[in-house]
Amino acid sequence: MRIDQALSDAVARLARCSTDETATPHLDAQLLLAHVLGRSRTWLYTWGDREVESVELERFNALIARREQGDPVAWLLGYREFFGLRLAVSPHTLIPRPDTETLVEQALSRMPATGVRALDLGTGSGAIALALAAERPAWQVTGIDIVPEAVALAQRNADALNITNACFEQGNFFSALSPSARFELIVSNPPYIDEHDVHLGQGDVRFEPRSALVAGKKGLADLLHLIDAARAFLASGGWLLLEHGYQQGADVRAALTDAGYTAVSTCQDLGGRERISLGQWHAA
Ligand code: GLN
Repeated sequence: MRIDQALSDAVARLARCSTDETATPHLDAQLLLAHVLGRSRTWLYTWGDREVESVELERFNALIARREQGDPVAWLLGYREFFGLRLAVSPHTLIPRPDTETLVEQALSRMPATGVRALDLGTGSGAIALALAAERPAWQVTGIDIVPEAVALAQRNADALNITNACFEQGNFFSALSPSARFELIVSNPPYIDEHDVHLGQGDVRFEPRSALVAGKKGLADLLHLIDAARAFLASGGWLLLEHGYQQGADVRAALTDAGYTAVSTCQDLGGRERISLGQWHAA
Protein backbone atom coordinates (compact mmCIF):
# COMPACT_ATOMS: atom_id res chain seq x y z
CA MET A 1 0.00 0.00 0.00
CA ARG A 2 1.17 3.54 -0.76
CA ILE A 3 1.98 6.06 1.98
CA ASP A 4 -0.85 8.41 1.00
CA GLN A 5 -3.37 5.54 0.99
CA ALA A 6 -2.20 4.25 4.37
CA LEU A 7 -2.61 7.76 5.75
CA SER A 8 -6.07 8.35 4.33
CA ASP A 9 -7.30 4.94 5.56
CA ALA A 10 -6.02 5.73 9.03
CA VAL A 11 -7.54 9.22 9.01
CA ALA A 12 -10.91 7.73 8.05
CA ARG A 13 -10.67 5.24 10.93
CA LEU A 14 -9.71 7.88 13.49
CA ALA A 15 -12.32 10.37 12.28
CA ARG A 16 -15.04 7.71 12.49
CA CYS A 17 -14.29 6.67 16.07
CA SER A 18 -13.78 10.11 17.53
CA THR A 19 -16.38 12.05 19.46
CA ASP A 20 -13.77 14.44 20.78
CA GLU A 21 -13.98 17.93 19.30
CA THR A 22 -10.26 18.47 19.87
CA ALA A 23 -9.46 15.39 17.77
CA THR A 24 -6.75 15.77 15.14
CA PRO A 25 -6.94 12.64 12.95
CA HIS A 26 -4.65 13.95 10.18
CA LEU A 27 -1.91 15.07 12.52
CA ASP A 28 -2.15 11.88 14.59
CA ALA A 29 -1.92 9.61 11.55
CA GLN A 30 1.03 11.56 10.15
CA LEU A 31 2.93 11.55 13.44
CA LEU A 32 2.43 7.82 13.89
CA LEU A 33 3.37 6.85 10.34
CA ALA A 34 6.39 9.16 10.37
CA HIS A 35 7.43 7.46 13.62
CA VAL A 36 7.06 3.95 12.20
CA LEU A 37 9.02 4.87 9.07
CA GLY A 38 11.66 6.81 11.01
CA ARG A 39 11.03 9.87 8.84
CA SER A 40 9.70 13.40 9.27
CA ARG A 41 6.12 14.46 8.53
CA THR A 42 7.40 16.58 5.65
CA TRP A 43 9.06 13.52 4.17
CA LEU A 44 5.63 11.83 4.07
CA TYR A 45 4.20 14.67 1.96
CA THR A 46 7.04 14.43 -0.52
CA TRP A 47 7.01 10.65 -0.86
CA GLY A 48 3.27 9.91 -0.66
CA ASP A 49 3.49 7.60 -3.69
CA ARG A 50 6.07 5.27 -2.09
CA GLU A 51 5.06 1.83 -0.93
CA VAL A 52 4.92 1.03 2.78
CA GLU A 53 6.50 -2.35 3.62
CA SER A 54 4.04 -4.82 5.09
CA VAL A 55 5.81 -5.02 8.50
CA GLU A 56 5.69 -1.26 8.75
CA LEU A 57 2.05 -1.19 7.73
CA GLU A 58 1.27 -3.73 10.43
CA ARG A 59 3.05 -1.68 13.08
CA PHE A 60 1.27 1.46 11.88
CA ASN A 61 -2.15 -0.22 11.97
CA ALA A 62 -1.47 -1.51 15.47
CA LEU A 63 -0.73 2.04 16.63
CA ILE A 64 -3.84 3.38 14.89
CA ALA A 65 -5.89 0.70 16.64
CA ARG A 66 -4.55 1.86 20.01
CA ARG A 67 -5.23 5.47 19.06
CA GLU A 68 -8.81 4.44 18.20
CA GLN A 69 -9.08 3.29 21.83
CA GLY A 70 -7.98 6.77 22.89
CA ASP A 71 -4.34 6.18 23.88
CA PRO A 72 -2.57 9.56 23.74
CA VAL A 73 -0.35 9.99 20.67
CA ALA A 74 2.51 11.05 22.94
CA TRP A 75 2.36 7.68 24.70
CA LEU A 76 2.34 5.80 21.41
CA LEU A 77 5.37 7.74 20.24
CA GLY A 78 6.98 7.70 23.69
CA TYR A 79 7.76 11.41 23.58
CA ARG A 80 6.34 14.90 23.11
CA GLU A 81 8.12 17.97 21.78
CA PHE A 82 8.13 20.90 24.20
CA PHE A 83 9.92 24.18 23.51
CA GLY A 84 12.05 22.41 20.93
CA LEU A 85 13.03 19.60 23.32
CA ARG A 86 12.09 15.98 22.79
CA LEU A 87 10.81 14.79 26.16
CA ALA A 88 10.06 11.20 27.12
CA VAL A 89 6.56 10.88 28.59
CA SER A 90 4.98 8.37 30.92
CA PRO A 91 1.58 7.65 32.47
CA HIS A 92 2.87 9.11 35.76
CA THR A 93 2.91 12.72 34.56
CA LEU A 94 0.98 15.19 32.42
CA ILE A 95 1.83 15.24 28.74
CA PRO A 96 3.48 18.63 28.16
CA ARG A 97 1.15 21.13 26.47
CA PRO A 98 1.86 23.89 23.95
CA ASP A 99 0.01 26.39 26.18
CA THR A 100 2.62 25.84 28.87
CA GLU A 101 5.28 27.08 26.43
CA THR A 102 3.73 30.51 27.04
CA LEU A 103 4.84 30.27 30.66
CA VAL A 104 8.40 29.49 29.56
CA GLU A 105 8.40 32.44 27.14
CA GLN A 106 7.17 34.80 29.84
CA ALA A 107 9.80 33.64 32.29
CA LEU A 108 12.60 33.98 29.72
CA SER A 109 11.51 37.45 28.63
CA ARG A 110 11.24 38.79 32.19
CA MET A 111 14.42 37.52 33.80
CA PRO A 112 18.10 38.35 33.19
CA ALA A 113 20.26 35.79 31.39
CA THR A 114 22.47 35.20 34.42
CA GLY A 115 22.20 35.10 38.20
CA VAL A 116 18.83 33.33 38.28
CA ARG A 117 17.94 30.46 40.57
CA ALA A 118 14.67 29.04 39.22
CA LEU A 119 12.28 26.64 40.88
CA ASP A 120 9.62 24.59 39.03
CA LEU A 121 7.02 23.06 41.35
CA GLY A 122 5.15 19.99 40.14
CA THR A 123 7.66 19.56 37.35
CA GLY A 124 6.21 16.27 36.00
CA SER A 125 8.26 15.26 32.96
CA GLY A 126 10.54 18.23 33.70
CA ALA A 127 9.17 20.18 30.73
CA ILE A 128 9.27 23.72 32.14
CA ALA A 129 12.45 23.23 34.17
CA LEU A 130 14.32 21.72 31.21
CA ALA A 131 13.13 24.35 28.74
CA LEU A 132 14.36 27.09 31.10
CA ALA A 133 17.64 25.30 31.73
CA ALA A 134 18.25 24.65 28.04
CA GLU A 135 17.51 28.25 27.04
CA ARG A 136 19.51 29.76 29.92
CA PRO A 137 22.65 27.69 30.55
CA ALA A 138 23.78 30.13 33.27
CA TRP A 139 20.63 29.62 35.37
CA GLN A 140 20.43 27.04 38.12
CA VAL A 141 17.07 25.27 37.85
CA THR A 142 15.44 23.00 40.44
CA GLY A 143 12.40 20.89 39.60
CA ILE A 144 10.28 19.32 42.32
CA ASP A 145 7.52 16.75 42.11
CA ILE A 146 5.68 14.72 44.72
CA VAL A 147 5.62 11.62 42.48
CA PRO A 148 8.92 9.66 42.54
CA GLU A 149 8.37 8.35 38.99
CA ALA A 150 8.03 11.93 37.77
CA VAL A 151 11.32 12.91 39.40
CA ALA A 152 13.02 9.93 37.75
CA LEU A 153 11.50 10.77 34.36
CA ALA A 154 12.53 14.43 34.60
CA GLN A 155 16.09 13.38 35.48
CA ARG A 156 16.12 10.90 32.61
CA ASN A 157 15.01 13.68 30.25
CA ALA A 158 17.74 15.97 31.58
CA ASP A 159 20.35 13.26 31.03
CA ALA A 160 19.12 12.45 27.52
CA LEU A 161 19.31 16.13 26.59
CA ASN A 162 22.67 16.67 28.33
CA ILE A 163 21.18 19.40 30.46
CA THR A 164 23.38 19.77 33.52
CA ASN A 165 22.06 22.99 35.09
CA ALA A 166 18.77 21.43 36.19
CA CYS A 167 18.33 19.10 39.15
CA PHE A 168 15.25 17.29 40.38
CA GLU A 169 14.03 16.37 43.82
CA GLN A 170 11.03 14.66 45.30
CA GLY A 171 8.82 16.69 47.59
CA ASN A 172 5.40 18.15 48.22
CA PHE A 173 5.89 21.60 46.63
CA PHE A 174 8.26 23.44 49.03
CA SER A 175 8.63 20.67 51.62
CA ALA A 176 11.96 19.32 50.33
CA LEU A 177 13.65 22.72 50.37
CA SER A 178 15.81 24.14 53.09
CA PRO A 179 13.96 27.07 54.72
CA SER A 180 16.86 29.28 53.71
CA ALA A 181 16.57 28.45 49.97
CA ARG A 182 15.81 31.50 47.80
CA PHE A 183 14.86 31.82 44.14
CA GLU A 184 14.69 34.71 41.73
CA LEU A 185 12.01 32.81 39.82
CA ILE A 186 9.35 30.34 40.92
CA VAL A 187 7.11 28.77 38.27
CA SER A 188 4.43 26.13 38.39
CA ASN A 189 1.79 24.44 36.28
CA PRO A 190 -0.09 22.92 39.23
CA PRO A 191 -3.30 20.93 39.14
CA TYR A 192 -6.10 23.47 38.61
CA ILE A 193 -9.12 21.68 37.19
CA ASP A 194 -12.34 21.40 39.18
CA GLU A 195 -13.29 17.76 39.82
CA HIS A 196 -16.65 18.28 38.09
CA ASP A 197 -15.18 19.81 34.91
CA VAL A 198 -16.44 17.99 31.79
CA HIS A 199 -13.00 18.54 30.25
CA LEU A 200 -11.72 15.65 32.42
CA GLY A 201 -13.74 13.24 30.28
CA GLN A 202 -12.19 14.34 26.98
CA GLY A 203 -9.10 13.46 24.96
CA ASP A 204 -5.70 12.77 26.52
CA VAL A 205 -6.83 14.17 29.88
CA ARG A 206 -8.81 10.96 30.50
CA PHE A 207 -5.54 9.02 30.71
CA GLU A 208 -3.41 11.44 32.67
CA PRO A 209 -2.93 11.22 36.45
CA ARG A 210 -5.81 12.89 38.27
CA SER A 211 -3.40 14.19 40.91
CA ALA A 212 -1.68 16.30 38.24
CA LEU A 213 -4.97 17.76 37.02
CA VAL A 214 -7.53 18.15 39.78
CA ALA A 215 -7.44 20.47 42.78
CA GLY A 216 -10.00 21.39 45.43
CA LYS A 217 -11.75 24.75 45.84
CA LYS A 218 -12.97 24.68 42.23
CA GLY A 219 -9.43 23.98 41.08
CA LEU A 220 -7.90 26.91 42.97
CA ALA A 221 -6.57 25.13 46.07
CA ASP A 222 -2.99 24.49 44.91
CA LEU A 223 -2.72 27.85 43.15
CA LEU A 224 -3.71 29.65 46.37
CA HIS A 225 -1.29 27.55 48.41
CA LEU A 226 1.58 28.34 46.03
CA ILE A 227 0.82 32.08 46.08
CA ASP A 228 0.94 32.02 49.86
CA ALA A 229 3.92 29.73 50.37
CA ALA A 230 6.16 31.06 47.56
CA ARG A 231 6.67 34.35 49.40
CA ALA A 232 9.02 32.70 51.89
CA PHE A 233 11.23 31.35 49.07
CA LEU A 234 11.38 34.28 46.66
CA ALA A 235 14.45 36.49 46.69
CA SER A 236 13.49 40.13 46.96
CA GLY A 237 12.35 41.29 43.51
CA GLY A 238 11.73 37.66 42.48
CA TRP A 239 8.86 36.59 40.27
CA LEU A 240 6.13 33.98 40.65
CA LEU A 241 4.57 32.70 37.41
CA LEU A 242 1.60 30.36 37.52
CA GLU A 243 -0.35 28.55 34.86
CA HIS A 244 -4.08 28.34 35.59
CA GLY A 245 -7.44 27.66 33.99
CA TYR A 246 -8.71 30.22 31.51
CA GLN A 247 -11.50 31.28 33.85
CA GLN A 248 -9.29 31.57 36.93
CA GLY A 249 -7.35 34.73 35.94
CA ALA A 250 -9.36 37.14 38.10
CA ASP A 251 -9.18 34.88 41.17
CA VAL A 252 -5.44 34.32 40.79
CA ARG A 253 -4.73 38.04 40.28
CA ALA A 254 -6.81 38.88 43.34
CA ALA A 255 -4.95 36.30 45.44
CA LEU A 256 -1.57 37.61 44.26
CA THR A 257 -2.53 41.18 45.07
CA ASP A 258 -3.99 40.26 48.48
CA ALA A 259 -0.79 38.37 49.31
CA GLY A 260 1.25 41.51 48.64
CA TYR A 261 2.74 40.77 45.22
CA THR A 262 3.17 43.75 42.91
CA ALA A 263 3.14 44.19 39.12
CA VAL A 264 0.43 41.54 38.99
CA SER A 265 -0.74 40.68 35.48
CA THR A 266 -2.03 37.88 33.27
CA CYS A 267 -0.84 36.66 29.87
CA GLN A 268 -2.84 34.78 27.27
CA ASP A 269 -2.23 31.31 25.88
CA LEU A 270 -2.03 30.39 22.19
CA GLY A 271 -5.83 30.41 22.00
CA GLY A 272 -6.00 33.97 23.38
CA ARG A 273 -7.31 32.89 26.78
CA GLU A 274 -6.05 33.99 30.21
CA ARG A 275 -3.58 31.28 31.20
CA ILE A 276 -0.49 32.62 33.02
CA SER A 277 -0.57 35.05 35.92
CA LEU A 278 2.44 36.56 37.58
CA GLY A 279 3.54 38.85 40.32
CA GLN A 280 6.74 40.22 41.80
CA TRP A 281 7.70 39.85 45.45
CA HIS A 282 9.55 42.50 47.45
CA ALA A 283 10.47 41.28 50.90
CA ALA A 284 9.48 43.71 53.65
N1 GLN B 1 -4.08 22.68 30.81
C1 GLN B 1 -4.40 21.34 31.16
C2 GLN B 1 -5.71 20.94 30.56
O1 GLN B 1 -6.62 21.73 30.52
C3 GLN B 1 -4.46 21.11 32.64
C4 GLN B 1 -3.14 21.23 33.27
C5 GLN B 1 -3.23 21.35 34.74
O2 GLN B 1 -4.20 21.01 35.41
N2 GLN B 1 -2.22 21.86 35.28
O3 GLN B 1 -5.84 19.84 30.10
